[in-house]
Order: sequence, then C-alpha cells, then structure tokens
Amino acid sequence: MTTLQPVRGTHDLLPLEHRKHSYIIDAARKVAASYGFLEMATPLLEFKEVFKRTLGDVSDIVTKEMYEIVKRGDEEIVLRPEGTAGIARAVMSNGLTQSMPLKFFYEGPMFRYERPQKGRLRQLHQIGAELFGVSDSMGDVEVIALAFDILKVLGLSQHVTLEINTLGDDESRKLYRDHLVAYLKDHHASLSPDSQQRLDRNPLRILDTKDEGDKKILNGAPLLTESLNAFSQEMFLKIQEGLNALKIPFQLNPHLVRGLDYYCHIAFEFTTTELGSQGTVLAGGRYDGLMTTMGGPSIPGVGWAGGIDRLALMLSEDALPPFIRPIAIIPMDEAFDIKGLELAQALRGQGHVVEMTYGGNLGKRLKKANKMNAHYAFILGEAEVASHTVTLKDLDTGEQTQLPREQIGEWLKDKGIS
Ligand code: ATP
Ligand code: MG
Repeated sequence: MTTLQPVRGTHDLLPLEHRKHSYIIDAARKVAASYGFLEMATPLLEFKEVFKRTLGDVSDIVTKEMYEIVKRGDEEIVLRPEGTAGIARAVMSNGLTQSMPLKFFYEGPMFRYERPQKGRLRQLHQIGAELFGVSDSMGDVEVIALAFDILKVLGLSQHVTLEINTLGDDESRKLYRDHLVAYLKDHHASLSPDSQQRLDRNPLRILDTKDEGDKKILNGAPLLTESLNAFSQEMFLKIQEGLNALKIPFQLNPHLVRGLDYYCHIAFEFTTTELGSQGTVLAGGRYDGLMTTMGGPSIPGVGWAGGIDRLALMLSEDALPPFIRPIAIIPMDEAFDIKGLELAQALRGQGHVVEMTYGGNLGKRLKKANKMNAHYAFILGEAEVASHTVTLKDLDTGEQTQLPREQIGEWLKDKGIS
C-alpha cells in the first residue's frame, strides 16, 4: 500500500529546520577543523557484524533497534545505528592503523528502531568526533573541549550541564562489577525484569536504568569510584584538572555509565532540562577496547556523538544567521523576460541573491516579489532597456529611482548589500 505519510519515526526537514541542521553542522565542522579533526564519512550501510561485535549482543541497539536490510545471499547488512563502529572499521579497512593518532569529525543520519517521541526518531542525525591512538588524558580533555566549544558557538552552553564519570580501567571495573553484582543479587526479587536479565549479562548497564524501583535500590549500591585503582583515579583527576583549566564547568555523576564492555575511564554527557526525558544532547567516552573487539590491533580511542535533532529543538530561529532577502527582477511584461534573465544572472555572478519573477504584468510580479520577501525590485521595461538603466524599487518604503546599469554595483554597496 502506498501512503502519503513519511515512515514512522522519520521526518522531513523543511527549509527552516534544514537551516537549523545546516547551521549546527557548519558550526561543528568549523570548530572541529580548528582542533585538527578531519571530516570523513562512512557508508550508511554496514555489515551487521560491525555493530554486533562492537556494541555487543546485549546492547539495546543490537537486540532491539537495528534496521536490517533485506538479506541477499549470506550478507547481513544493516543501516548504521551509530558512527563510531563504522569509523573504526574504516580505519582498519583502509590500513590506517599505523598512522596514529587520527582525529575524525563526521555528520550524518543514523537509524534506530525506537519508539518515536519528541527528540527520539528512527532516522536521527548526529555530529561526532573520534580521536584514535591517544591514551593520554589530555586527549580526553580536548575531545570534551571540542564538544563544549561547539555548544558554545551554538549559544547552547548555558543551557546544558556536562556530567562526567569514570568507569576506570579493566581491573577497577571487574572489581566493581563483583561488588555491584553481590549487592544487587541481594535485591534480585525487587529488580525490574530488564535489570534482572542484565544482572548476568551486563550488570553495569543497570546503573543506567530508568525504572524508579531500580533507582531506589541503586541508591544504596556501592559506587564505582570506591573500586578505582590508583591509575584510574589519577587519570580521572587529570581530566578534571584539564577541564577546570579550560573553565569548562562539570558535575560528577557516579551513576553515569556507558553500558558496553569496551568503554573505560571517562564517560560524559551534556544534558539539558529543556527537552523532557530526551535530555541528553551529546554523549561520549573512552573506548580503548573497541578496536580489539573488532579483531584489530589495540588502539585507544575517545569520542562523542551529538544529536542534531535534539540540538535543533533547542535552537530558536533568532539564533540562525539572518535570511538574506533576495533582489527580485521584474520585467514589465514578457517582452523583457530575456533581458531580466540576463540581469539576474549578472547580479548572481557578483554574489547577490536574486530571484526572477515569472509571468504576468508589473502589478502581479510586484506582488510575487513581496511574497518572496524581496527587499528591492529591479524593474525592466521599454524605457529602461532603451536607456540601459533599471528602475530600482525599495519594496519596504516604496521609494523608486532610475539608475544606469553600470552604477548598480555601487548602489547595492551603498545599501549595504554586497
Ligand atoms: P538515549 O539514552 O537518549 O537513547 P543513547 O545513549 O542511545 O541516547 P548515543 O548512542 O550515545 O545515545 O547517541 C548520542 C546522541 O545521539 C544522544 O545523546 C542523542 O542526542 C542522540 N540520539 C540518540 N538516539 C536518538 C534518537 N533515537 N533520536 C534522536 N536523537 C538521538
Ligand atoms: Mg538509545
């Protein structure tokens, strides 16, 4: 059956919203370049294995949210649900593992089969950054600073809170896992079914629960910070020292986790109270185990992804660069259409935003010019063509002047249009 509705959870980006998306991407791209992050893109299609391995068989994304493409032969192909695994795959596919460090920026659509709501789409859009080959905590600081600077440029840094936590290194996390499991086993019967399942397979994820009953139980749970060894503690403190030095405000949130095994040390989120329950606008962490999980060499990594759709919800139209009002070309009637086209083309060549008005007499075309929110109309009729001039009409004031063609450039400059 055909239908005129977009697919559930997808969404048309009409011009205003598209302007917001482009504005976010352009701003992010510029800031990323200033940190030496190079933009790259991976395909929207990847082998399912890329995510199954990296996100693990127990993650929500792999178990519930992945869009599988119709199977052809033995190939299991999916629409990418996130960016990091594809980029890690690309680093290996393209033989870049010897060229560390690598800094990448990306943007594009991701696909997750989730329950759509405000700020939660099935085709979502992300910006993201990945830093490979650096285990120094200054790398973590810079990656967070990059995110913060982007939010600042967008005028959103006052509207978000940076929350950070550490998952520690493998040793600390294993120790903590044992403490947590021991504690939660004592409360097994009161846990939500989801959390009961996770207790065996992925207990750290329980810290991230949305269930109120679970949250109460967790209030009494041991904290990961108590299991940290000296190295993990030092790494976390250095990051905080760096953030303080760069005057990036943050809050410690000992319940913040990224549920996957390859995450370690820093985990961070920029959250807002302005978007209801979809309050995380950008999230990231260190994933030193990712490459080996994919069968590659041991290369550390740290990065983040930000939700463009959620950031766009926070942006008001006033924050966008002003819309450039066009110059409207108005041939008095069809006999002057070609002359009009030529003038439009010449002005566009000089960098102006110019729209042609099509069809009808002067009155009709002036109406069209007003409708396209043109500031000036350039009118061309018999007298103008004969004297090689144009009549310029200010559509806001109604003022009108006739000007030799060669003085148009100067006139526009005087009006502040160049
Ligand atoms: P959530 O807890 O909201 O489901 P997540 O942990 O699945 O988020 P990540 O995989 O870390 O999210 O993605 C990074 C960012 O991408 C999120 O912080 C959010 O801003 C955005 N994002 C994730 N899923 C969606 C979605 N379905 N629709 C819109 N934006 C999304
Ligand atoms: Mg999610």
